[in-house]
Amino acid sequence: MDKKLFVISGCSGVGKGTVLKEFMSKNSDNFMVSISCTTRNPRPGEVDGVNYFFVTKEEFARSVEENKFLEHAEFAGNCYGTKKKFIKQKLEEGINVILEIETQGAIQVKKQMPEAVLIFIAPPSVEELEHRLRGRHTEDEAAIQKRMHEVQIELERSKQYDYVVLNDSVEHAVAELERITKSCLS
Ligand code: 5GP
Repeated sequence: MDKKLFVISGCSGVGKGTVLKEFMSKNSDNFMVSISCTTRNPRPGEVDGVNYFFVTKEEFARSVEENKFLEHAEFAGNCYGTKKKFIKQKLEEGINVILEIETQGAIQVKKQMPEAVLIFIAPPSVEELEHRLRGRHTEDEAAIQKRMHEVQIELERSKQYDYVVLNDSVEHAVAELERITKSCLS
């Protein structure tokens, strides 16, 4: 059976990282999460080659010029991208791949690979989302304002997704994700 590419997006602070981590703790035999390239600085605890490939702006620009990205986008002042070769290799190895990326990139993926399944993790409310984002204490006020602006744009783009999963609880969101992936693979 052919392996599939799943794309998961959600606004900053929606808890998609937690949902995905929980999903992967139960499904790592069949799925892997792609490792993206980014020009942003690592956050405390993040490791190069595990969370991201942390690259310079020059390295990133070179990969864009050489057409090495399946998709790439700028988000909150930093560049992020998925290498074509990485995805192709994993699918050929027989692994279902999950991209955890923002919405501009997801829409590019759908254009290039219409068989990819786009899943958007939605917040219970925008107020709750801002509360969660502030609670993370990883961004300053300017960065939070910038990200809340992105939230509105991302919610609008979520209309182009195949599925929307409401993250009212991690258990519910993980169960939904399992149901969707299972039905897409059967
Ligand atoms: P963060 O800086 O919080 O790790 O990620 C910021 C945003 O960039 C998140 O929405 C994340 O999903 C997205 N992102 C991470 N990797 C990629 C990528 O390879 N491509 C795109 N388009 N977005 C990405």
